Amino acid sequence: MDETLIKRMIASIKCGSCGQNYHEDHIEVVEHNDELWFLKVSCSSCHVRCLVAAIIRENAKPEVITDLTEEEMEKFKNLDGVRDEDLLAMHDFLKDFDGDFPRVFRQE
Ligand SMILES: [Zn+2]
Repeated sequence: MDETLIKRMIASIKCGSCGQNYHEDHIEVVEHNDELWFLKVSCSSCHVRCLVAAIIRENAKPEVITDLTEEEMEKFKNLDGVRDEDLLAMHDFLKDFDGDFPRVFRQE
């Protein structure tokens, strides 16, 4: 799967904060591991940044697991347990993910 296609797919997602579509130029691939992609996006309209986790399978519709704002990331980081299915799914992926989100955001 090619990065351009991933970015095009993510660009079809609307910003959770202002409802504008993300722009391909503001999408950055953070980590790519087989079917799992982590992307950092920033809204060109309201400048909110968030992290998107997506599962991309060849010949199948891509599935966006979650998009969390930076604020939500902070909450998640401090959470002992998980509160809903999205976070649970994210948590499961993170067990095998060698990066950590706070580090990702510090790399600006
Ligand atoms: Zn926005």
